[in-house]
Amino acid sequence: MERLVILGGGESGVGTAILGQQKGYEVFVSDKGKIKETYKEVLEHFEIDWEDEKHTDAKILNADIVMKSPGIPDTVALVKQLVAQGVPVISEIEFASKYTDATIIGITGSNGKTTTTMLAHHIARQADLKVGMAGNIGDSYAKMVAEHNFAYYVLEISSFQLDGIDGFRPHIAILTNITPDHLDRYDYTFENYIAAKFRIAMNQTESDYLIYDADDEVIVNWLSTHPVKSQLMPFSLEQEFERGAYLKNNNIHITTDTNTITMTTDALALEGKHNLKNTMAASMAAKLIGIRKETIRQSIANFQGAEHRLEKVLKIGHVQYINDSKATNVNATYFALDSMSAPTVWIVGGVDKGNDYKELMPLVREKVKAIVCLGLDNEKIKDAFGNVVELMVETFAMSEAVKVAYKIAERGDMVLLSPACASFDLFENYEDRGNQFKEAIKNL
Ligand code: ADP
Repeated sequence: MERLVILGGGESGVGTAILGQQKGYEVFVSDKGKIKETYKEVLEHFEIDWEDEKHTDAKILNADIVMKSPGIPDTVALVKQLVAQGVPVISEIEFASKYTDATIIGITGSNGKTTTTMLAHHIARQADLKVGMAGNIGDSYAKMVAEHNFAYYVLEISSFQLDGIDGFRPHIAILTNITPDHLDRYDYTFENYIAAKFRIAMNQTESDYLIYDADDEVIVNWLSTHPVKSQLMPFSLEQEFERGAYLKNNNIHITTDTNTITMTTDALALEGKHNLKNTMAASMAAKLIGIRKETIRQSIANFQGAEHRLEKVLKIGHVQYINDSKATNVNATYFALDSMSAPTVWIVGGVDKGNDYKELMPLVREKVKAIVCLGLDNEKIKDAFGNVVELMVETFAMSEAVKVAYKIAERGDMVLLSPACASFDLFENYEDRGNQFKEAIKNL
């Protein structure tokens, strides 16, 4: 019996344990932190051996194969030792993909992964395909492979998951964009991070497709010096293609081998330029797997959107409140500000991951009437925008920030929470931040 050791007892770890056991491995799960009660119960139920709050070397170094959860860096001593011993250390998507023949749409990028994944999944469901959605989103992919028999998977894939692939080959890969993020895990070298993202295409062949943002210089430059085997399917808001997706006169045109589909942007459920891109990417993937035009058109019109991403919360006194708590970097906030159609009271701040606010300046000048800072340390935001907006108020709790925004906003304005920063100074995570925002609005 081959021994499968799983480092990390979270969603992907426990899912992999279930699949591994089903496929005949002797499975052991080890987590240096505490494993959640619900996961412990699952492991007990399946009679899978586990430990938490420690790593017992003797039970780990004898592995034939190791699945490492994406949160654990490659630099951890134990991981290094396993690699030095020649033990394959892989990610959940690598492990689970071996056990399914499903057609895979794999989605990666710095921003827009979740939105594009949910939209692609939504379209495929509307087309009545047997399709599962997994990866960094919702239930574990490995568990789904163990328990279902889907014909298609739409997978949201982080660069950490891609670091741990070997043979993983999506039929359709989507690369939404690449901006500097997570550089702490890539030796602070942008090239390493770009290379990690492009691993999504490394096993693709001529019969596969790579859908990518052709307006993204980082992607285009990289492709010019690092060709891929798969067929290139670009999308753009600025240029037209014979094959690919582009915007012209308020219409999205998508051309694949077979034919062209034209869809008006007026009917789109999601707002903002970035969502035009996400829509192009997801629709093109849908078209490539043969979904009918009419189904794609209907699906992109009735898609509900993802929580905490430019989510319309409430209108109070003719002021629209928008929750974009998921915007944890400048690029995401750029697109949020860009899509504001009225004077905006902007709630911003949190843990700055080395932000450069320069690229936001023109948008802030144009759209923002007041800034409400919300973070433990707001100095950088004050420095950057103090002279740019007329009114700036510092706050240290969500309820306070929302009350201040409510006082400032006038009929017809918008209040936007788009922090451009991580959340863990004042909140548990971005969901907590977004939920507190919504709660505070309801209490107004
Ligand atoms: P991810 O899963 O990659 O973090 P999300 O879909 O959750 O992406 O979106 C994260 C943030 O980025 C949100 O604030 C969202 O409004 C913004 N965003 C979504 N799509 C894009 C895009 N294509 N380019 C830039 N920002 C985007």
